Amino acid sequence: MHPDWIYLDHNATTPPATEAVDAMLQALRENWANASSNHDAGQDAKQMLGQARVKVARFLGCKPAEVVFTSGATEANHIALRGAVGFNGRSGLVLSAAEHAGVQKLARQLAQQPGGDVAFIGLLSDGTLDMAQARSLITDRVALVSVMAANNETGVLMPIGEIARLAHAQGAMLHVDATQLVGKLPFDFGKSGADLVSVSAHKFHGPKGVGALLVRQGLNWPVLFPGSQERGRRGGTENLPGIAGFAAAAERLTLSPDDWLTHSARMATLRDRLEQGLQRALPGTEVYGQLSPRLPNTSFLRFGLLHADLVLNKLGRLGVQASSGSACSAGGNEPSTVLTGMGVPRNEALCAVRLSLSADTTEAQIDHVLAHLPREIGGLMAESTAPLPHPHPDSVTSPGVFA
Ligand code: PMP
Repeated sequence: MHPDWIYLDHNATTPPATEAVDAMLQALRENWANASSNHDAGQDAKQMLGQARVKVARFLGCKPAEVVFTSGATEANHIALRGAVGFNGRSGLVLSAAEHAGVQKLARQLAQQPGGDVAFIGLLSDGTLDMAQARSLITDRVALVSVMAANNETGVLMPIGEIARLAHAQGAMLHVDATQLVGKLPFDFGKSGADLVSVSAHKFHGPKGVGALLVRQGLNWPVLFPGSQERGRRGGTENLPGIAGFAAAAERLTLSPDDWLTHSARMATLRDRLEQGLQRALPGTEVYGQLSPRLPNTSFLRFGLLHADLVLNKLGRLGVQASSGSACSAGGNEPSTVLTGMGVPRNEALCAVRLSLSADTTEAQIDHVLAHLPREIGGLMAESTAPLPHPHPDSVTSPGVFA
């Protein structure tokens, strides 16, 4: 990573914290034994694993025995959703239309299986959940409701407590993909109302390839990877360096509520300064979900009808690393399904760019964007929103979208 680059893609991944790197190196160098071995070296590794579990549990407000380490949130989501099929004699799966692309693909696959019964709760134009639809879809035939805590593209927060009440009233379980919320806002598994929660270390300055599924104590959720590790819930030799880095990143953020407020408020102030500055300098800039409760670090916006690729190219010239949305669906020619789900027309959705900050983002970095981006795209933006001369060849193939 070039030191001068301005990294504004923290929802894709975050730089590992020094504490996480140090803990990983120590585990690699000194604690490389297999935690399932009975000799002293193995028992040392097992002890380290136990300490890491305690740190992660303290950070997430759960009991150590509720933590099942996985290779990340994708795996945790798979264990949660695949386990739902046939659970308690029910087969229904209800998801929000905001779920991560990987979750939506998995749900569509599950819907093809015999007895597969999958329904999606739609979104309103402000990015929030259609709660009237949630109430009608969550019935006593549903095994699992899966709603993310915060959307990875818009940052809009979902009403987890209310969804938990609806699910439990019908005897259904609730899975929450908390990947994007954890590390940006406080999260407490015990108070969340969720039965299963997915998290990923690399979204809060831990390493990639490690995460956890939290499973409420007493819930006998089906096992996807049988084996002896993780109390029989997830076989496979534990990724000790990854888990050590995860625990160190979690411990670093196990702050008092006051610190959390400062941490989140600072990010929100910088994000708002960025959005408001851009909206002032570039009329026609629209921020999706701007008035909804959102993560403090996320801005999903479009500059008139300038195609996202063009804006990202200009940002790249300013050294700004950003993306057109979820890293898992970016790079294609398809618009964000979250935006189309909110009713945003396709040609507008193709213009959306996501800027996501971290607690390390500086005022100087935001001011650099504010000082230079308007000059780079202001003229193009005015052209893109002006009525097209008639006839215009572009208007036939890509109405209103300038690439
Ligand atoms: N869920 C959400 C909401 C995400 O943003 C991501 C990461 N893009 C994932 C799941 C997948 O996480 P991981 O990279 O740990 O598999």
